[in-house]
Amino acid sequence: MELLHLKGLDLQDKKVFIRCDFNVPMDEFGNISDDRRIRSAVATINYCLDQDCSVILASHLGRPKGEVNEKFTLAPVARRLQQLLKRHVELAPGVVDDATLKLAAELPRHEVLLLENIRFEAGETENDEALSKKLASMADFYVNDAFGVSHRAHASVEGITRFYDDAHKSAGFLLEREITFFSKLINNPVRPFAAIVGGSKVSGKLEALVNLLPKVDKVFIGGGMAFTFLKQLGYDIGASLVEDDLLDEAQRIMDEAKKLGVKFYLPVDVIAAEKFEANAVSKIVTAQEIPDNWMGLDIGPATVRLYREGLADVQTVLWNGPMGVYEMEKFARGSSKIAHFVADSYATTVVGGGDTADLVQRVGVDDEITFISTGGGASLELLEGKVLPGVAQLVKKEN
Ligand code: AMP
Repeated sequence: MELLHLKGLDLQDKKVFIRCDFNVPMDEFGNISDDRRIRSAVATINYCLDQDCSVILASHLGRPKGEVNEKFTLAPVARRLQQLLKRHVELAPGVVDDATLKLAAELPRHEVLLLENIRFEAGETENDEALSKKLASMADFYVNDAFGVSHRAHASVEGITRFYDDAHKSAGFLLEREITFFSKLINNPVRPFAAIVGGSKVSGKLEALVNLLPKVDKVFIGGGMAFTFLKQLGYDIGASLVEDDLLDEAQRIMDEAKKLGVKFYLPVDVIAAEKFEANAVSKIVTAQEIPDNWMGLDIGPATVRLYREGLADVQTVLWNGPMGVYEMEKFARGSSKIAHFVADSYATTVVGGGDTADLVQRVGVDDEITFISTGGGASLELLEGKVLPGVAQLVKKEN
């Protein structure tokens, strides 16, 4: 599979629409806590500016659910981007309102216009054709550099590609780098190959887990999603996060792992807390003895030791999702210890997903990781062997 290359486009003096992924994590004060995704887009933007283009950028941030919500404005992103590009970035008042369309139409060469949060428009996640058409009307060329959302058939990711022929659209440098890396990883992983999967929800990662099983040798589960599995095994999980409607699915995954001979690891102890609060009373308990009304917010020390043992011989590690509520210091130890272990290993280590990338950066081991992907769900789907909807239309046709 070869992608349509950005350098293959005749961009000189034209207008380019670049779908970026500026969905960056923010701290409790509304500051950007990890700007990797913004930094990663700079190469593509600068390349287009160097071709004397004017550049229109689009991205989502959080989940405003189709409504304008100041909490999710891209203003902080515009400010950071301005620093990184060392040039003015104009933040549009909206996405496809008249004033924004006018700004886009009159955008002079070498200028950068950032549309407001694309998910302020309900049509974005519905892949609405009318919205795609309006977005496409803004520019002569379309470039997708938003690896993190390329697994979504959304208006600015998938729908819009249909309004450009192959000479007028391409993958950006970041998208291309990610796809190339994962294609190599999937075709020829050095074994044993382990997946560490955490985070809050089973639902978001369930299908990925099922499809990953035939590809990996070991799976290590952490984070809130572990409790759905533990509950299915008959443990009392107190008030821990659980998705009751997915208990059967959890069983299916464990059965499938057994059938395939995949070593499936679950936490054997957890840090349990009375409340979901940064300074809640907490204690280490075994998975069998989580008190009623307490919630497991991190993996415990025995689990860390167990996972280290299990990971000691692996040659390739894919890590997606934190082991606990790493944003709170008290519940960050499990994630931090696993991060140090993964970083110190001689295996090929791949970290995917905004939270996990943020985590390894906070722990200070990001330089030791082989590849930090800007996409969590997208990287999982690639590893499952899927063609991502946002990439499908950017593949060079065989002739
Ligand atoms: P996800 O978006 O599914 O990757 O989940 C990431 C989030 O999971 C982080 O914000 C963590 O705080 C959260 N998380 C991890 N472990 C737990 C847990 N045991 N209980 C609740 N939330 C958790």
